[in-house]
Amino acid sequence: MWFWRIVRRRPRRSLPETPEVEQLRQEARKVLPPRLAELASEHGFSYNSVRIKHNVSNWGSCSSKGNINLNLNLMRLPEELRDYVMLHELCHLRYMNHGPEFHALLESLCPGHRKLSAQLKEYKLI
Ligand SMILES: [Zn+2]
Repeated sequence: MWFWRIVRRRPRRSLPETPEVEQLRQEARKVLPPRLAELASEHGFSYNSVRIKHNVSNWGSCSSKGNINLNLNLMRLPEELRDYVMLHELCHLRYMNHGPEFHALLESLCPGHRKLSAQLKEYKLI
Protein backbone atom coordinates (compact mmCIF):
# COMPACT_ATOMS: atom_id res chain seq x y z
CA MET A 1 0.00 0.00 0.00
CA TRP A 2 1.11 3.56 -0.60
CA PHE A 3 1.89 4.41 3.01
CA TRP A 4 4.24 1.44 3.40
CA ARG A 5 6.91 3.23 1.48
CA ILE A 6 6.77 6.18 3.84
CA VAL A 7 6.78 4.10 7.01
CA ARG A 8 9.68 1.96 5.86
CA ARG A 9 11.86 4.76 4.61
CA ARG A 10 15.38 4.58 6.00
CA PRO A 11 15.65 6.90 8.98
CA ARG A 12 19.24 7.84 8.23
CA ARG A 13 20.22 10.14 5.39
CA SER A 14 22.50 8.13 3.16
CA LEU A 15 25.44 9.91 1.63
CA PRO A 16 25.92 9.95 -2.12
CA GLU A 17 28.34 7.31 -3.39
CA THR A 18 30.20 9.41 -5.89
CA PRO A 19 33.09 7.86 -7.86
CA GLU A 20 35.43 9.88 -5.64
CA VAL A 21 33.92 8.37 -2.50
CA GLU A 22 34.05 4.88 -3.99
CA GLN A 23 37.72 5.42 -4.79
CA LEU A 24 38.39 6.59 -1.21
CA ARG A 25 36.55 3.54 0.14
CA GLN A 26 38.67 1.15 -1.89
CA GLU A 27 41.89 2.84 -0.81
CA ALA A 28 40.70 3.01 2.80
CA ARG A 29 39.96 -0.73 2.90
CA LYS A 30 43.46 -1.49 1.68
CA VAL A 31 45.38 1.00 3.79
CA LEU A 32 43.60 1.71 7.07
CA PRO A 33 43.07 -1.72 8.70
CA PRO A 34 46.75 -2.76 8.33
CA ARG A 35 47.92 0.62 9.64
CA LEU A 36 45.57 0.40 12.64
CA ALA A 37 46.86 -3.11 13.38
CA GLU A 38 50.43 -1.84 13.15
CA LEU A 39 49.81 1.07 15.54
CA ALA A 40 47.91 -1.18 17.94
CA SER A 41 50.64 -3.77 18.17
CA GLU A 42 53.34 -1.10 18.43
CA HIS A 43 51.61 0.42 21.47
CA GLY A 44 50.10 -2.70 23.03
CA PHE A 45 46.41 -2.20 22.24
CA SER A 46 44.00 -4.89 21.20
CA TYR A 47 40.66 -4.12 19.58
CA ASN A 48 37.79 -6.29 18.48
CA SER A 49 37.07 -5.15 14.95
CA VAL A 50 37.72 -2.35 12.50
CA ARG A 51 35.28 -1.05 9.91
CA ILE A 52 35.50 1.57 7.22
CA LYS A 53 32.60 4.03 7.40
CA HIS A 54 31.30 6.93 5.41
CA ASN A 55 29.68 9.72 7.37
CA VAL A 56 30.02 13.45 7.88
CA SER A 57 29.86 13.37 11.67
CA ASN A 58 33.20 11.90 12.77
CA TRP A 59 36.63 10.83 11.55
CA GLY A 60 36.50 7.73 13.67
CA SER A 61 34.82 6.16 16.67
CA CYS A 62 35.41 3.45 19.22
CA SER A 63 32.74 1.49 21.06
CA SER A 64 33.00 0.10 24.58
CA LYS A 65 33.15 -3.35 22.97
CA GLY A 66 36.36 -2.40 21.22
CA ASN A 67 34.90 -1.96 17.75
CA ILE A 68 36.67 0.79 15.87
CA ASN A 69 35.14 2.67 12.94
CA LEU A 70 37.33 4.70 10.63
CA ASN A 71 35.98 7.23 8.15
CA LEU A 72 37.04 6.68 4.54
CA ASN A 73 37.80 10.43 4.44
CA LEU A 74 40.98 9.61 6.40
CA MET A 75 42.51 8.82 3.00
CA ARG A 76 42.33 12.54 2.18
CA LEU A 77 44.54 13.47 5.15
CA PRO A 78 48.32 13.66 5.47
CA GLU A 79 49.68 10.50 7.12
CA GLU A 80 50.47 12.31 10.35
CA LEU A 81 46.84 13.33 10.84
CA ARG A 82 45.59 9.91 9.78
CA ASP A 83 47.78 8.29 12.44
CA TYR A 84 46.61 10.83 15.00
CA VAL A 85 42.95 9.86 14.43
CA MET A 86 43.77 6.15 14.70
CA LEU A 87 45.81 6.65 17.88
CA HIS A 88 42.97 8.76 19.29
CA GLU A 89 40.53 5.89 18.76
CA LEU A 90 42.99 3.33 20.16
CA CYS A 91 43.35 5.44 23.34
CA HIS A 92 39.56 5.18 23.76
CA LEU A 93 40.07 1.44 24.30
CA ARG A 94 41.59 2.47 27.63
CA TYR A 95 39.60 5.64 28.40
CA MET A 96 36.09 6.06 27.02
CA ASN A 97 36.18 9.83 27.51
CA HIS A 98 38.32 12.86 26.77
CA GLY A 99 39.55 13.33 30.34
CA PRO A 100 43.09 14.25 31.47
CA GLU A 101 44.30 10.60 31.50
CA PHE A 102 43.07 10.13 27.95
CA HIS A 103 44.98 13.20 26.77
CA ALA A 104 48.11 12.22 28.72
CA LEU A 105 48.11 8.78 27.12
CA LEU A 106 47.48 10.20 23.65
CA GLU A 107 50.22 12.79 24.11
CA SER A 108 52.71 10.06 25.08
CA LEU A 109 51.92 8.15 21.87
CA CYS A 110 51.38 11.12 19.61
CA PRO A 111 53.36 14.17 20.78
CA GLY A 112 51.74 17.48 19.86
CA HIS A 113 48.35 15.85 19.45
CA ARG A 114 46.41 18.99 20.35
CA LYS A 115 48.03 20.82 17.48
CA LEU A 116 47.15 17.93 15.16
CA SER A 117 43.59 18.03 16.46
CA ALA A 118 43.40 21.73 15.53
CA GLN A 119 44.82 20.98 12.07
CA LEU A 120 42.21 18.29 11.55
CA LYS A 121 39.47 20.90 11.91
CA GLU A 122 40.69 22.50 8.68
CA TYR A 123 39.53 19.44 6.76
CA LYS A 124 35.91 18.82 5.92
CA LEU A 125 34.28 15.43 5.69
CA ILE A 126 32.72 14.74 2.31
ZN1 LIG B 1 37.50 10.83 21.07
